[in-house]
Amino acid sequence: MKKLSALIVVSLFSLNIYMHGSVNSFKSGQDRSIEFPDTENYLTITSDLHTHSVFSDGHVWPNIRVAEAMKDKLDAIAITEHLEYQPHIRYIPNKNRNIAFLEAKKAAEETDLIVIAGSEITREMPPGHLNAVFIKDANTLFNIDESLLPEARRRMSEAVNIEDLSDEELEVADQYALGNLYSPFEALEEAKRQGAFIFWNHPMWGSQANDGVSRLTEMHKQMIAKDLIHGIEVVNTEEYSEEALQIALDNNLAIIGTSDVHELIEWDYDSSKNEHRPVTLILSEKRNQNSIKEALLDRRTIVFYKNKLIGKEENLVPLLDSILGFKSLGYRGDTSILRVEISNNSSSDMTLKNLSAYNFSRSDDYIFIPKNETKTIMVKTLEVIKAIKLKFEVLNAITAPKKHAVVEATIEI
Ligand SMILES: [Zn+2]
Ligand SMILES: [Zn+2]
Repeated sequence: MKKLSALIVVSLFSLNIYMHGSVNSFKSGQDRSIEFPDTENYLTITSDLHTHSVFSDGHVWPNIRVAEAMKDKLDAIAITEHLEYQPHIRYIPNKNRNIAFLEAKKAAEETDLIVIAGSEITREMPPGHLNAVFIKDANTLFNIDESLLPEARRRMSEAVNIEDLSDEELEVADQYALGNLYSPFEALEEAKRQGAFIFWNHPMWGSQANDGVSRLTEMHKQMIAKDLIHGIEVVNTEEYSEEALQIALDNNLAIIGTSDVHELIEWDYDSSKNEHRPVTLILSEKRNQNSIKEALLDRRTIVFYKNKLIGKEENLVPLLDSILGFKSLGYRGDTSILRVEISNNSSSDMTLKNLSAYNFSRSDDYIFIPKNETKTIMVKTLEVIKAIKLKFEVLNAITAPKKHAVVEATIEI
């Protein structure tokens, strides 16, 4: 009898371990891999630095975020709960705001996914929402002082009719309004003390910018001047902001793209339709947290969004050089028509426009190469030559608003 109960305890215990380690068992379904080659000087780390779980306004447990990241073959994720907006607070009191991170970290234990600690510091505009990642303790980034309830309620009543709220809604609204009274500067200073990388979330979001235009306010300018904002989301979920890209370029901010997922990645991005979540590619020296943080602070990022790559020229061109391969397959018969194979070593479809002086014989000047495929073009060189120089505008690679990257290749024949 004694032996039997020991067995039950052991099997329950291993079931428990199995449940936490089960992130690898979500392997069924379509291939969703998001993979990019390393550049000559750096590793290309794929990351989603903005996601939610039930510990704020998401609807899944953190281990699901880990399983989804494994399925998408990401290198790193951050679960970034709203510190001040806790709609499930009645059922998930969440006194310790580090729990979502700790749960995700536990779920990722047997995997090589890097789980980064982060939080979303949530304010009305300005400054809106800011993500701090690589934090040490989320609990010191927010402050709810119940004695300020009359002031919080006064401000809340400017936006909503408090009488209309249910007890449960009022509980959530009170916490949010109290959280908003805490100085965002103090919260960011504390995040910076912890060594965080901080970025401004969804500056184009309709609820905080009703014309959809990202604009820096005086408060944002002060935060940038004090080195309290290091990056900006140029892409959030479905949205891309050219204004945000310009702000990033003008203020030397890291260009960030995130899913900000609240439900399920597979519901939001259908891989059977060639959709993928937006991610930030980080050009990092090593595959570890310190090196990734250093790369972010050094602004070495590129966003992958709807089969487009968005980044500063200095980061994007070396990545394109690794993605695109050019190889001569020799002349066709005794013609002066050269066959050149172009390979696309990435999870992004690539669209090239011919900028060289040569014409092609079996295509126009637009070359489309699906992800992880090759395409052979026929180049009319007019005479038999030993080497050829080709030049393409990469139409799906954006280096500034309405500006695309250019790649050049010299091919030995
Ligand atoms: Zn947000
Ligand atoms: Zn968010």
